[in-house]
Amino acid sequence: NTGKISLELIDALSVKSFPLCMRQLHKALRDNHHLRHGGRIQYGLFLKGIGLTLEQALQFWKSEFIKGKVDADKFDKGYAYSIRHSYGKEGKRTDYTPFSCMKIILSNPPSQGDYHGCPFRHSDPELLKQKLQSYKIPPTGITQILELVKGMHYQLACQKYFQLTHDVDDIGFSLNHPNQYFAESQKLLS
Ligand code: SF4
Repeated sequence: NTGKISLELIDALSVKSFPLCMRQLHKALRDNHHLRHGGRIQYGLFLKGIGLTLEQALQFWKSEFIKGKVDADKFDKGYAYSIRHSYGKEGKRTDYTPFSCMKIILSNPPSQGDYHGCPFRHSDPELLKQKLQSYKIPPTGITQILELVKGMHYQLACQKYFQLTHDVDDIGFSLNHPNQYFAESQKLLS
């Protein structure tokens, strides 16, 4: 992890190469200048996984949070610790790894005001449909995705979303991790 990603690119990457769960977290962070704990952990570890260094992560979160209700001092005292912690620089010094799809789908479901979780598992189907429409997914694709969701095939629904947003017939991998989604997307796009 040596700063492979420039912070200025994250907005564009979130649209092109992030899975829906991370795109949703990124947008919520930009809109609200805040994310609650579950979102900070899920998104923060994903960003670490795509190559943000600790210094970049501190800069990224701080610059966004201080646009909202948190001032720089409060950020340094309250939030910076947990970011350093997730990079293994505090406490037990565990170097935490990004969450897999199964972990996101099966544990810690989001409550009101949370943006973490898996949108295929945790979003109301009608809201998911509207979101997919706003992302210009064709109607037949949306129907297929919602069928998979109904059958509780959340990762297959996500694979279908990948297929449709990257214009490939066969994605050539079996999705089990948001960071894998990102890596495969970057492979296709670069
Ligand atoms: Fe994220 Fe995995 Fe859900 Fe896709 S299936 S939205 S990568 S948690």
